[in-house]
Parts: sequence; structure tokens; C-alpha cells
Amino acid sequence: MSIIVSKFGGTSLANGRQFLRVKDIILSNEDRKYIVASAPGKSNSEDTKVTDLLYLSYDLAKHKITFIDTLEKVFDKYKDIIKNANLDLDLSEYFNQLKIDLESGKDRDFIASRGEYLNAYILANLIGYDFVDAKDLIFFDENGNFDEKKSYNAIENMKKNHKNAVIPGFYGSMPKGNIKTFSRGGGDLTGSIISRGVKTDLYENWTDISGFMSADPRIVKNPNKIEVITYKELRELSYAGASVLHEEAIIPVTVAGIPIEIKNTFKPEEKGTLIVEDTFEKGLSEITGVSGKKHFSVINIEKVQMNKDKSFHRKLMSVLEVNGIYLEHMPSSIDSLSLIVADKYLTGKIDTLETEIKTLVNPDKISIKSNIALITVVGRGMINSVGTSAKLFTALAAAGVNINMIVQGASELNIIVGVEEKDYEKAINSIYDSFMN
Ligand code: ASP
Repeated sequence: MSIIVSKFGGTSLANGRQFLRVKDIILSNEDRKYIVASAPGKSNSEDTKVTDLLYLSYDLAKHKITFIDTLEKVFDKYKDIIKNANLDLDLSEYFNQLKIDLESGKDRDFIASRGEYLNAYILANLIGYDFVDAKDLIFFDENGNFDEKKSYNAIENMKKNHKNAVIPGFYGSMPKGNIKTFSRGGGDLTGSIISRGVKTDLYENWTDISGFMSADPRIVKNPNKIEVITYKELRELSYAGASVLHEEAIIPVTVAGIPIEIKNTFKPEEKGTLIVEDTFEKGLSEITGVSGKKHFSVINIEKVQMNKDKSFHRKLMSVLEVNGIYLEHMPSSIDSLSLIVADKYLTGKIDTLETEIKTLVNPDKISIKSNIALITVVGRGMINSVGTSAKLFTALAAAGVNINMIVQGASELNIIVGVEEKDYEKAINSIYDSFMN
């Protein structure tokens, strides 16, 4: 018998009706043995996520402002879930404790983690699975880094002792026992870690869409769904801006070669997107998807014969390093080089940066251009097809989009173009039309 790990996101567990759907999904396949639950998300567009309400309660309590009304909203959510899922469960003891924890100044991560803790507890009761706290399975070292060895040992033991379990997502514990959360959306990462730990055959990630789209539906009308995508392609697309899974979530499963399937709780019968290590299908389209982000700057540096100075790049990098700036890309020509960085790292630092670059590498010219959008076109099919770039640039030219810079990764998996922010949507649509329609 195989093992499936199923992670249910916030919208999948936002109210009692959703809980009943999730119950049906889980119990319809007895391989679904380990379940990871998020905190209740939004039931509708007016609603607020429980995690946000908990952060707000924490902030209010910290500033000695009454948090009771906000916390009551959290309690009401859970009471509503329990009632509408027809459960006989009394959580008043947990609610009282949470109130005391807030009054006594318990830390922020602990307070936020209660969202998933309570939701997983309710779900375990509803489906008759064991409840296993993530604090006993996911560990961080004293620097706050994920402690692989300790965590995977604990998860293996959990598998021996529990034939099935519901585990809260999003958090784990520090060496001294206090709770630490991952970054927002981190339940995906918990699912991935549990998947690797129990050596699952499949990691299902249940959300509110039927998979990963080949372009952002807010920009392209009715984009195609991607049926199969490789880990590497997904990393590129997610990093470039497409968000379905937490950016780091595929790392643990990639190491173990476990496939992930993105599924829709609202339409469980629909095929989702399968994320795999490699595929060998024939007749692949050149591109799998396109995504992008705004708010980048290009720092352009010109110096004749810069390649004759062995320390040129190192000095330049040291300026970025001491100013805490992460480099995205560095396209270059013989006598010029561009540093592409996110705008957020430059705020308040442009003058210092210019001065330091001038002092260290003495360029002939330096200029900074902001409001750049980076668009990444990703496709494992590019490797074997001639003319992908030509098609891409023709499409952009036909749409009247000026390209500021081009980067192609050596793996031939992606091409990145920089365009002005005002052309961003137009560029994405023209690329999509040219490759996908
Ligand atoms: N509840 C957390 C958040 O809202 C984590 C998650 O949903 O995965 O970010």
C-alpha cells in the first residue's frame, strides 16, 4: 500500500462545510495517511485569515490595547467550524489559554502557530486520525535553521507510532522548546518535510485552484493549466513571481524525488498539476509558463577593458555585500556590466552605492535605471527547439515593447527579459499569445 501526504491550505479549511469536503477527500483514499493542515483562511473576499487575526491580536496585546474583540473573531471562526462540521468538541480550555498567553506576552510565533494547531486538532477529531503536534516533528537549530537530522528522525518515529495523523503546518520548535514559524505560507513547507520524512509516494497540495497556470490569470485571460512541470521549472517560475506553492516548499521533496500534485478542494475530480523531477514526453511545447515581477533596478557600469582587471567583479560584489544588497542577475558585455537588483534593496542607499562603486572600481560611467520589470519565460522544451528566442523577441517587438536586458541561464531552461514596468502586462500577453495560443 502506498502512502500519500495531503496538505490542505487555508481556504480548504476555512469553514465547517469545507471541513466536510476535506473529510470526504481524505477518507475516499485510504493511502492518505498523513495530513498537514493550515489555519482557517478566507471564507469569502471580506473575510480575514485567522493567522492575520492572531498577528493583530499579538500586536494589540503588545501595545496594551484591548485585543479581545479580535481574538473573539478567531474563536468564532473555530466555533463555527465545529458547529457546521457537526462536531461535538469543546475548545474553551484552549481559548482561555490563548487569552492568557496573549496577556502574559508569549512570543509572536507561538501566538501565530495556534491557528494551525487548533485547525489540525479539529480536523483530527473530525476524521478520527491521531493529532501529532508539529513542535515534536519539525526542529530548528539555535540559529533558526531547519534541523534536518533531528526532524527526519522524529518524523520516522512518528510514522512507526501513528498509522495516520493530522499535523499542523507552518511551525516547529527551537532547541529550547519555544515555537518558531516558517515564513508566510509555510504550511507547504511542512507538507514537503513530512512527505520526505515518511517517504511518501505522493505529496498532494490541496488548494483553491486546479493547478498551476501557465501565466498569471490576473494578466492573461484564461491561461492554460500546466499538467506536468519539473521541479526546476517550478522553482524558476515561482522565483520569478508565480505563487501557488511556498518558494522553498519543493526543496525537501526534490531531494527525495517525490512528486507533488496541486489539487483543488472545490473540484477534487479535476486533474491538477503534477510536479516531477523529470519527464520524457515527446512533442513538448517550447515553453511551460511565463511569470514575472515588477520593481527592479538596473545599475549600469561602463569601463573600457574592465575584463583586464582581475579584481573588478570582486570589488563590485563587495559593495553589494556590505550594503546588504542581493544580486538577481549580471548581464555583461566587454566594456559594460549591469547589476539587476530589487528596488527594495536600494531605498536610501543609491548615493552611498554610487560613491562606493566609484571609489573601488573607478568606472567611466555609472547610471541607475529603476521601474524595471523582469519577465521569465520557462520551458524544458527550449533545450531541443531552435528559434525560441527569435520567437520571443519577435513577439515583444510586434507589441512595441522595448527590451532593456536579456539573460539566458546556461541550463537553457529559461530566458529572462527586463522591460519597463509600463510594458509589463503587454509583454506577458504578447509572449503568451505567441507561444501558447
Ligand atoms: N497560516 C499561515 C499563513 O497564513 C501559513 C500557511 O497558511 O501555510 O501564512
